Amino acid sequence: MKHFKETLYDAVCQEYRIDKMYFESKTSHQHLMIFHNAQLGRVMTLDGIVQTTEADEFIYHEMLAHVPMLAHGNAKRILIIGGGDGGMLREVVKHPIDHVTQVEIDQSVVDMAIEFLPKHSNGAYQDPRLNLVIDDGFNFVKNFANSGEAKFDVIISDSTDPIGPGEVLFTDDFYQYAKQCLADDGVMVTQNGVPFFQADELQNTQQRMSSLYSDMRFYCAPVPSYYGGFMTFAWGTDNTGASAPELSVLQQRFSALGIKTRYYNPAIHGASFALPQYVIDSLTPSTDNIENGQ
Ligand code: SAM
Repeated sequence: MKHFKETLYDAVCQEYRIDKMYFESKTSHQHLMIFHNAQLGRVMTLDGIVQTTEADEFIYHEMLAHVPMLAHGNAKRILIIGGGDGGMLREVVKHPIDHVTQVEIDQSVVDMAIEFLPKHSNGAYQDPRLNLVIDDGFNFVKNFANSGEAKFDVIISDSTDPIGPGEVLFTDDFYQYAKQCLADDGVMVTQNGVPFFQADELQNTQQRMSSLYSDMRFYCAPVPSYYGGFMTFAWGTDNTGASAPELSVLQQRFSALGIKTRYYNPAIHGASFALPQYVIDSLTPSTDNIENGQ
């Protein structure tokens, strides 16, 4: 029986039994695999790193989509960077939005996810509100920033780790261009790694985003297949209303949305911004939830 061994770290790794291989190939950008594992369902890896599994993807996609969108409260134009598996798009189109642009660098990821990971997008790629752009997210925000087009209310960077094609999505320039694509009351969120093993990712993001937003923080959620404990999401906004919405407001917005979730709820929305002390201690005290220890 073949096994997949994740190559993200030198000294530790996780291994999955491959019960059935659906797709394995080098695309124009990365090595893509989609296989079935008896415990986790269908699994997608890129360049030897687990991207998503059917068993636990709901945690990541619900938290990276619904936290910014319900905090904003009236998000109509959304930008997703990456997200080729389609899970983020599936959650975003559950909201009463007008438009979502998704910028994914690798057409093969979209095509193979639709074919071999269909529950992720669950038909969202056919949503008429979608504008799918196959390009480097960096190029897109750089060009869009000065385009004069209507800006986005929420930007979600659902990228791979800062290695390979994803590396450019963790740079000063990317965050600056992305800010120029965001409406004044907009919210930007990004996947930001597992702090127990990738503390440097948080420190780099804090250093690069905190100068751009009056409210730059992190929130977290436990995604079992992201080895090393809970993962963090970076949050940036100048919209004070979005920064600390009352629980009653979130509850009202969430029930008006009328969707069924399996991880997200308004209470965990607020609680997710409370960080363990070791994470707070790893950051400089300029970030909002660092100073207040909330
Ligand atoms: N949930 C995963 C995680 O947290 O690691 C991310 C999932 S999604 C599969 C990551 C996507 O980012 C992939 O489809 C990959 O092709 C895309 N991607 C990587 N670099 C990119 C870039 N520079 N521009 C646009 N998309 C990119």
